[in-house]
Amino acid sequence: MSESAADRVFRIEGLTARVGAIDILHGVDLEVRPGEVHAVMGPNGSGKSTLSHVLMGRPGYEVTGGSVTLDGVDLLALPTWQRARAGLFLALQHPTEVPGVSLESVVAEAARAAGRPTEGIHDLLVAEATRIGFDERFVSRPMNVDLSGGEKKRNEMLMLGALEPKYAVLDEIDSGLDVDALAAVSRRVQEATEEDGLGVLAITHFSRLLEVLEPDRVHVLAAGRIQAVGGTELAQRLEVEGYAGVLAEAGASVGLPVGVTHPDNHEAGFGEDPFADPTA
Ligand code: ADP
Ligand code: MG
Repeated sequence: MSESAADRVFRIEGLTARVGAIDILHGVDLEVRPGEVHAVMGPNGSGKSTLSHVLMGRPGYEVTGGSVTLDGVDLLALPTWQRARAGLFLALQHPTEVPGVSLESVVAEAARAAGRPTEGIHDLLVAEATRIGFDERFVSRPMNVDLSGGEKKRNEMLMLGALEPKYAVLDEIDSGLDVDALAAVSRRVQEATEEDGLGVLAITHFSRLLEVLEPDRVHVLAAGRIQAVGGTELAQRLEVEGYAGVLAEAGASVGLPVGVTHPDNHEAGFGEDPFADPTA
């Protein structure tokens, strides 16, 4: 693996994937460089969580085409634990409850698997909790069991802070967080981009996440494809106008928005049946 700065990129190209017999992703292209924040916004069912699961290699999600590389490493060839070891972290939309196992044991196991020292992990997690104004008791109690949605999200943030991945996919990390917790979590992610060069793919419905966490690009995913790309103003427009308006405009413009390419040169496909056979 070469390691010049130019080679450091999390690159998704022409990614197509299916769940069961249903094609969900129809050619996703995205590039995230160290320190960058890319927001992915899209209506319910557009394939955002599918994208996150495919990137992390969740069983049941079948990649049918395209490539994903992390600093030159072919991620799709690797099992999930090796993707994590290569530097990818996924904060789940619905974090898993793990009875009998604490957050600190999970983080210690992840560190061990990555060949990193495990001493000091408790203190590190407590420091991370303090940074986001979270109670340190969550570090030692059974992970996520009986916690509120927002508490689970902050547990994901603790893991992200302690594991220091190169790139993080955050699947609706803002959902369930109250205003103060949201501000603390967004600030912590933003600091990781600035202090550690973390590259972020932030999946969200709401532009409020992007008030503290500053996106370099905003991508709109619909019907399994990126249909529009822009800056923060695009997120603000979505908040005001909803997806329908922005997507209709993208479709009405000549071909695809500037900078958006699809491997098969389809027209913007949000009006198509997302479950239609793309090869038919
Ligand atoms: P989003 O996160 O954008 O709301 P998802 O990626 O969760 O959307 O879902 C995209 C589509 O794929 C939805 O129509 C959903 O019903 C379908 N889907 C997701 N996971 C499965 C699954 N395991 N089995 C069948 N269909 C699924
Ligand atoms: Mg989702």
